[in-house]
Amino acid sequence: MNIHEYQAKEILKKYGVAIQEGIVAESADGAVDAAKKLQEQTGTSWVVVKAQIHAGGRGKGKITGTEQRGVALAKSLDDVKTISANLIGGTLVTIQTGEAGKKVSKVLVAQDVYYPGASPTKEFYMSILLDRKEGKNVIIYSTEGGMDIEDVAHNTPELIHKEHIDPAIGLQPFQARKIAFNLGLTGEANKQMVKFVSNLYKAYIGTDSGMFEINPVLKTSDDKIIAVDAKVNFDDNGLIRHADQLALRDTSEEDPTEVEAGESNLNYVKLDGNVGCMVNGAGLAMATMDIIKLSGGDPANFLDVGGSANAKTVEAGFRIILKDPNVKAILINIFGGIVRCDRVAQGVVDAYQNIGNIPVPIIVRLQGTNAVEAKKLIDESGLKVFSAITLQEAADLVTQVLN
Ligand code: GDP
Ligand code: MN
Repeated sequence: MNIHEYQAKEILKKYGVAIQEGIVAESADGAVDAAKKLQEQTGTSWVVVKAQIHAGGRGKGKITGTEQRGVALAKSLDDVKTISANLIGGTLVTIQTGEAGKKVSKVLVAQDVYYPGASPTKEFYMSILLDRKEGKNVIIYSTEGGMDIEDVAHNTPELIHKEHIDPAIGLQPFQARKIAFNLGLTGEANKQMVKFVSNLYKAYIGTDSGMFEINPVLKTSDDKIIAVDAKVNFDDNGLIRHADQLALRDTSEEDPTEVEAGESNLNYVKLDGNVGCMVNGAGLAMATMDIIKLSGGDPANFLDVGGSANAKTVEAGFRIILKDPNVKAILINIFGGIVRCDRVAQGVVDAYQNIGNIPVPIIVRLQGTNAVEAKKLIDESGLKVFSAITLQEAADLVTQVLN
């Protein structure tokens, strides 16, 4: 699960990581109020207005149809108002959003940490993530932080350093010192960086995250080390332990069909093909996708309805699959082990009648307990549903209806 920059920064602050302070706003007037408040609290005179979307590259991205960047410096309250009005309600296209872009509904008004008095500043890169191959956490860091980190990684990979951390032992003080040293820091800045890394690691572990990325990490002329940006991805499997983090979810940033599937407890992943499929069990779902391929089609999705397929889940599955205009046929493949096939068949018939006119042919393969009764039920329903018992029959039917 991803969260917004402003939410990630609140978490960092709780763990003692110094951040670029800011206040979130949902309207241009709200942004002006936020800027005034921030000026009182921090003494900043300029502020930076940052679009809040679940994607990076905002500094270089633009609002569709305008020259407005996703991150912009405001030197007056009028600037704050203009920039915020341009951002809120607009669609921001960045290198990470794809052409469609993402709608902006909030901005973070943040203190300007690059103001002339804070110079010379230095931008570093730092992220913590899980290295599955090593079975360890890894801190990736570089002296070359900022908006071109991808180019740095591509052209000068030797400037990207890695420090592996045994999760059972945790980050050792010598490792934090090594990182600060490798970043070329001495004196107070070195001390602040050691603190920054240590607390960042605590935040990563404490939130059960899969990734924490801070780019840039800024060193100001008075040797403060602060997080200017923050991208966090929580491990979904850990969220059961963190109700407070689950509350940070912004479903408007997620794929709407996948959100709807999640609400019905369906495991759905959209793909690009033309044959929708509905299966109980992830392994059988994978095998079904292979069958679709072998029969000349392409899977339009992965959909696992779970162990207890019933009329309700089948109907929810139908509705979700049918949202995809590419779907030319639907293959339902259910193994009746715990669930009885005739009950699933009845569920298919009921769902079909509830939804009304389903515009594509449906092939149902039911195998297991009461498979014969189930086939009879489907065949006698009078609906545009083809039944099969073996996988081969199902595959042949898919080929037939696609041609
Ligand atoms: P991203 O482009 O989505 O990664 O967004 P960032 O939060 O990293 O911001 C992009 C860039 O905006 C940074 O690399 C900085 O160069 C610039 N920026 C961020 N905060 C400030 C600020 O307080 N003042 C100024 N002048 N520039 C800033
Ligand atoms: Mn950034």
